[in-house]
Amino acid sequence: MHSTSHSLIIAWGCRYRAPIKLSSLYLTPLLLHHRRRTRELSPPPVAVLNTSTITSGCRLLNPHFTGNSLFSRMEILMRGMVLLHLISMLFYISKQRIWTGSCINKNNEMLDHLQRYGVIKSKKTAEVMKSIDRALFVPEGTPPYVDSPVQIGYNVTISAPHMHATCLELLENNLKPGMHALDVGSGTGYLTACFAVMVGPQGRAVGVEHIPELVDSSIVNIQRSAAAQLQKEGILSLHAGDGRLGWPQFAPYDAIHVGAAASEIPEALIEQLKPGGRLVIPVGNVFQDLKVVDKNMDGSLSVRSETSVRYVPLTSREAQLRGD
Ligand code: SAH
Repeated sequence: MHSTSHSLIIAWGCRYRAPIKLSSLYLTPLLLHHRRRTRELSPPPVAVLNTSTITSGCRLLNPHFTGNSLFSRMEILMRGMVLLHLISMLFYISKQRIWTGSCINKNNEMLDHLQRYGVIKSKKTAEVMKSIDRALFVPEGTPPYVDSPVQIGYNVTISAPHMHATCLELLENNLKPGMHALDVGSGTGYLTACFAVMVGPQGRAVGVEHIPELVDSSIVNIQRSAAAQLQKEGILSLHAGDGRLGWPQFAPYDAIHVGAAASEIPEALIEQLKPGGRLVIPVGNVFQDLKVVDKNMDGSLSVRSETSVRYVPLTSREAQLRGD
């Protein structure tokens, strides 16, 4: 008889002690209601428990360690674990938001992150990229501060921030105040704007892009950016044309950047490079290398591969629009 009643009491303890619920962490009123209900239903089983009379079902390791206190401890432990889990989830979400750019100053945060992880080594490159907000150059509704290329229409993309940074670092010594820079395949105008900020009011930054609609939108993008004044003064200019021919009007250039992969290095770009100048160009079809071409003072060339890359092709407008 005794054993039955005690078993029942323990069963009560199991049944009516608050089970671990995630909701109990934040639904405090519900929890209080539950506690009140528990108190009203019956006295706690601890007082009537006699371990010697228990014959079946529950075996206790410690006579003072009742079903109820065991559950209390488990409950505290479980709540602690759930709380820890929630905190780590919140931490993860807040980190993610840095990358999806939902708060102010996200451009700076993205660049701080790239610097912290050693992707950007040059202070000057980080500075100029901080001054030109990438959000002004990506289509609305696309994430601006994610380190990946973004579709901009016409079968092409704006390059990933780490790729922009790599090219700026490679060209940094050829983008000093007063120097001339050419950006072939200028697309959104992002890098042309960075070049203009670096060469400053005494220099010249020229973009050539063969999709006229992209030229028009890049002009608007730059108008809203920190390079707007330089564009207004004509230090920065954007032109529609075949970039494989360069832009002879403002040659020779200290720096030439090509934002699309050529099957071979266009001769016109070598010609328009100043002795002491540097050309950075992705070369290849399926497998591409980012080539760094230095024109020595005697006119000879030094060529090296910086890294493997994946760019859209430097091609004709028709082939690009067909998606070849
Ligand atoms: N660097 C730019 C765009 C990179 S995508 C940015 O980050 O925004 C490459 C760009 O090269 C595209 O805009 C494409 O239209 C352009 N392009 C490809 N072949 C070209 C050519 N022959 N002449 C001029 N632009 C070209």
